[in-house]
Amino acid sequence: MLNEFTLIQRYFNHKPMRADVNLSVGDDCALLSVPAGQWLAVSIDTLTEGVHFLSSMPARALGHKALAVSLSDLAAMGAKPAWATLAITLPEIDETWLAEFSAGFFSLAKEYEVDLVGGNISKGPRSVSVQAHGFVPPGQALRRDAAKIGDLIYVSGYLGASGAAVQVATKSIAASTSQIKMLNENWYYPQPQIELGLALRNVAHAAIDLSDGLLGDLQHVLDASQVGAEIWLDKIPLHPLLLDFFSLEQSFDLALTAGEDYQLCFTVPENKANELSANRSLTCIGKIIKETTMQMIDHEGRIHFPHQLGYQHF
Ligand code: ADP
Ligand code: MG
Repeated sequence: MLNEFTLIQRYFNHKPMRADVNLSVGDDCALLSVPAGQWLAVSIDTLTEGVHFLSSMPARALGHKALAVSLSDLAAMGAKPAWATLAITLPEIDETWLAEFSAGFFSLAKEYEVDLVGGNISKGPRSVSVQAHGFVPPGQALRRDAAKIGDLIYVSGYLGASGAAVQVATKSIAASTSQIKMLNENWYYPQPQIELGLALRNVAHAAIDLSDGLLGDLQHVLDASQVGAEIWLDKIPLHPLLLDFFSLEQSFDLALTAGEDYQLCFTVPENKANELSANRSLTCIGKIIKETTMQMIDHEGRIHFPHQLGYQHF
């Protein structure tokens, strides 16, 4: 039977790939070198069974997603990922589960050259916390408080697929195996928008990653920046699968409030919009305004105000 230490050894102690890791898993602390002249960007996120994921979620997907959501925070800041720590709580030792979880975690870690340098393991209801660490040159981070009046508001990718996947999984909505597979791909394996975040340094003013739904997340930017927004509803990039399952109104609702898309929402001064790479999937969905309200304008020019902004835990 594995004990705590052999378990860490077998599933979480990978040889570091980075030269800035002086000491990794195995001691009381990891010892790491922050490159001279850079700021350290740090963020932690927890995924708890029954709250953030269902017990039916494959272990490999959970390993991927636990790291992905923390890397997504680095992306939203324009930071380059470097290291992660992992605190995991499990009801029992299940080696098949651990092997799958670890495979999902490390395959994403490798993609972004992230070394797992430490963590914790304990017994209890299933829950995973990942702290991600990255670097950003001083003054270049994409902060929530930096949106300016007149900025254009952009989102990356498509919105609403994860929200739709949740609905399909929990509300017995009829879907084919291949549709479920496509919806779950986004929900289970979100891709942190790291390259986009880096490309937005010195181009975007403010950015945030979409974890709790566009309207609620954008509102954080508006509050921090003390500005408002005009959102052009007909520009919202609805995920193409949404309309297979939901009415147009429901689809908008999911895309605007459902969350877990892990795309980026960011603001760009108009004179820098031409610096956004044309070969990325980016959509301009509105504009920052002086009046501190969120106004959604539909295709007939009618103004709507959001009634529910997004997921809130408390
Ligand atoms: P301590 O009791 O000193 O906090 P632990 O016995 O909890 O140390 O862990 C031993 C070593 O294994 C430490 O270096 C710790 O960072 C690492 N570690 C523990 N759990 C994990 C994990 N899930 N993933 C990666 N490293 C881990
Ligand atoms: Mg110790």
